[in-house]
Amino acid sequence: MNEIKNIENLSVEDIVEILKNPDNTSSLAELATKVKKINFGGGLKVSALLEFSNHCEETCYFCYYRDENFSLNRFRMTPEEIISAILNVSNKGIKDFIIESGQDSFYDTDMISYIVYTLKQTSDISITLSLGKRGFDEYKNWKYAGAEKYILPLDQTGKTLLEQPEENKNFEQRIRHLQYLKRLGYQTGSSIIVGLPEQTLSDLANDLILIGKLEINTLLINPFIPYPFTPYQNQKAGNVEFALKLLSLCRILFPKSTIPASPFLHFGSDVQTKAIEAGANTVYPYITPPPYLNKLKIAYPKDFRIGFDPVEYSYRLNTDIQ
Ligand code: SF4
Repeated sequence: MNEIKNIENLSVEDIVEILKNPDNTSSLAELATKVKKINFGGGLKVSALLEFSNHCEETCYFCYYRDENFSLNRFRMTPEEIISAILNVSNKGIKDFIIESGQDSFYDTDMISYIVYTLKQTSDISITLSLGKRGFDEYKNWKYAGAEKYILPLDQTGKTLLEQPEENKNFEQRIRHLQYLKRLGYQTGSSIIVGLPEQTLSDLANDLILIGKLEINTLLINPFIPYPFTPYQNQKAGNVEFALKLLSLCRILFPKSTIPASPFLHFGSDVQTKAIEAGANTVYPYITPPPYLNKLKIAYPKDFRIGFDPVEYSYRLNTDIQ
């Protein structure tokens, strides 16, 4: 196991071999823990997550926020509400923020620039934007306004893509956008969904190789969830243990990357703890204020083993964050 050094040394077949071996999960986690300690010490980084709009113009098959989900209770926060929510938390000591929405062009270039610029002039904080696939000029403006990082999920790979030409085009565009964001000087973030319908181990191996080529700095590992009111609602959920194993492998292959435990929260706080033990180094507490926070609740199907309650995991000084 110790000979796994970096992604450039590995072929798709090598990665598939590692992933399909049922006996290496704990040794991968042990090695991931060592790698995390060398690169980050014993601490856990906290980035506060503000979801300020759950509107989205895209229709990704797996996503609860897709435009065609008419069951969703949609909301938008005003720029002033966004600024105030972040300043309230930054005054209590958190300095790293993720400002997130669906792909929602209601918030135009100037509006986001105004939010970022105002926050940067008012407080000593780092800003990550996660606003979907936007215009190249917009990325440039927001960089000038002061944003440091941009998260743009790749999400859907493999056979599913080949069978959905529109999704395939979208995927290729996202690669180009991530490359452009890098050229602008952003640190970039992206994601892998583990357990999508018809996903193979080779798909995941190709994802890892692509992540390495794109020099992604933040990597979200999301176990697939068959959200209600989506085309995938009747599919099987992703295997959490396998997603944790993939997380360990990512920590080893991308030792300095930020890997949050938070996507695992949908499966419960004990699973989030396991993600930290498997190699995650960051948590994303929710800071979306009420009454909007309640609108982020997801109506999980009855047989899904746990529902995610953002209120339960929202930011509470002295409890969630020491
Ligand atoms: S994955 Fe992102 S872009 Fe796709 S529907 Fe969901 S929020 Fe929109």
